[in-house]
Amino acid sequence: MPSILICGGGTAGWMTAIYLQHFFNREKPLIKISLLESATVPPVGVGEATVHSIRHFLQTLGLNEKEFMRASDATFKLGIRFDGWKKPDKQGRLHSYWHPFDIQNASTADMDISSAWLKHKTILATDYAHSVSISPHLAKLHKAPKLNNSADYEAPIPYAYHFDAGKLAEYLKTVACQRGVEHIQADIQKVNIKDGIICSVLSTQGEFTADMFFDCTGFASLLSNQISAENNWHSYQDVLPCNRAVVSQTQYQKGEVPYNFTRAIAMKHGWRWKIGLQNRIGNGYVYADKHITAQQAEDEFRSALGLDEMHPVRHLKMKIGRKRQFWQGNCVSVGLSSGFIEPLESTGIYLIEAAVRLWCEHANFDWSNPVLKKRYNQLFAAIYDDLKDFIVLHYALTDRDDSAFWRDAQNVLIRCPELSEKLSLWQHKVPQSSDFWDVGSQLFNEINYRFVLYGMGYFPNTKALFSVVKKEQQSLQLLQSLLQFCEQKSQQHPQQIQWF
Ligand SMILES: Cc1cc2nc3c(=O)[nH]c(=O)nc-3n(C[C@H](O)[C@H](O)[C@H](O)COP(=O)(O)OP(=O)(O)OC[C@H]3O[C@@H](n4cnc5c(N)ncnc54)[C@H](O)[C@@H]3O)c2cc1C
Repeated sequence: MPSILICGGGTAGWMTAIYLQHFFNREKPLIKISLLESATVPPVGVGEATVHSIRHFLQTLGLNEKEFMRASDATFKLGIRFDGWKKPDKQGRLHSYWHPFDIQNASTADMDISSAWLKHKTILATDYAHSVSISPHLAKLHKAPKLNNSADYEAPIPYAYHFDAGKLAEYLKTVACQRGVEHIQADIQKVNIKDGIICSVLSTQGEFTADMFFDCTGFASLLSNQISAENNWHSYQDVLPCNRAVVSQTQYQKGEVPYNFTRAIAMKHGWRWKIGLQNRIGNGYVYADKHITAQQAEDEFRSALGLDEMHPVRHLKMKIGRKRQFWQGNCVSVGLSSGFIEPLESTGIYLIEAAVRLWCEHANFDWSNPVLKKRYNQLFAAIYDDLKDFIVLHYALTDRDDSAFWRDAQNVLIRCPELSEKLSLWQHKVPQSSDFWDVGSQLFNEINYRFVLYGMGYFPNTKALFSVVKKEQQSLQLLQSLLQFCEQKSQQHPQQIQWF
């Protein structure tokens, strides 16, 4: 029987293990799948916010939604609210905008709700997201996306989760082992390689061989870096300078309810997240060490959260960029060992899902074919690069000039030619699906770009909107009635997560 050895048991390791087990062995055992993890090296322990594709991933695996949410202290996520990413307005009000998951069904057929909004924006009282999306309204009312009778992973609008990544990995481990994945606890000591092919992994529990290896050892990248570390790294540091984080967990105050959206709050030299789980809040300040020291970041973070000196915080280093070759020889890098884009749009866990799905698509029949390897590497690099551009967009449109960090951000487009070209295009037309025919990632498209562009005040020249807006009344009415339906039928978020 062919064999696969997954090295590393963080979120990446266990997501890979359970997916491969499902893909190859769900009807009868075809492949021996084992996972080796260290008992002494802890997983990175962050990664609490997700994007909506995670629902399909978990659903494909046949996992019960309530069970997984209960096991990982999960809450629902309707989107992200960005606060302070531009200067306050003339009245001193904080700049704030939403990036929800809604797919704007009301804009299908020959109606374009975003153009309707652009045409009328000066007379409309609400910003773009509040005009075309239901999620910010539900968030304000503390409503969950699901209705009382919604089936697992279903709701009238797309949603994702916040969860405790460590507990999720534990849950996946339990299920994966029940389904037949072999679990080995050992520390990797050496990787034996011949002609770019891994022959075995030496560990504190002996030597392990396999036909295929998955490197899920996090930033350490213990397997793939042995094959080739040099010339296999494509850094994004020049356009995404945030390379450090300081993180801490806090408790809910009396009367405070878990948030059903992620908060991304701009700071002087970066931004911080605030993510509400069932039992606690996750916080982290992502910053660039080129502008401040770890101590300065910690002081700013503590002061923003009101933490005293005794409250524990943790400092993390982040390597921002991606591998050039993710699949080399008989080894595929998944998770942080493949690369990392700062967590502004919660894309880390998405990149794990995308990697294993894509690999299974390409490696169903043949694990050593160079044509398949080449294609996988090209596609995955394109997914990374497109996500990187989307993250850069959040910074590039700022008008903040209160620190060197934000002043630098205003000039980042010089180093992002593809994004810069798209922005030129969107001065003259609304972002539409054809603008994304050539991109690698299917995750963020014209719908997502509009939320960020319009949220940051970047609009096309509306004089060009001659006749495009058809049935606009109808589309806005459709949205209103969906909103009313959700408001009436969905439960309060705190009550709904108490089901678990
Ligand atoms: C600051 C920060 C915030 C983030 N926020 C988000 C977010 O909101 N949303 C999101 O989707 N993603 C986020 N991420 C990314 C997310 O945390 C990761 O994508 C995810 O946790 C996967 O990590 P991993 O499993 O690749 O690595 P790790 O969690 O580091 O796991 C590595 C594994 O390798 C094992 N290992 C290491 N050395 C050895 C050895 N010698 N022998 C044997 N085993 C070994 C360890 O025991 C561990 O099991 C964030 C990341 C950072 C750094």
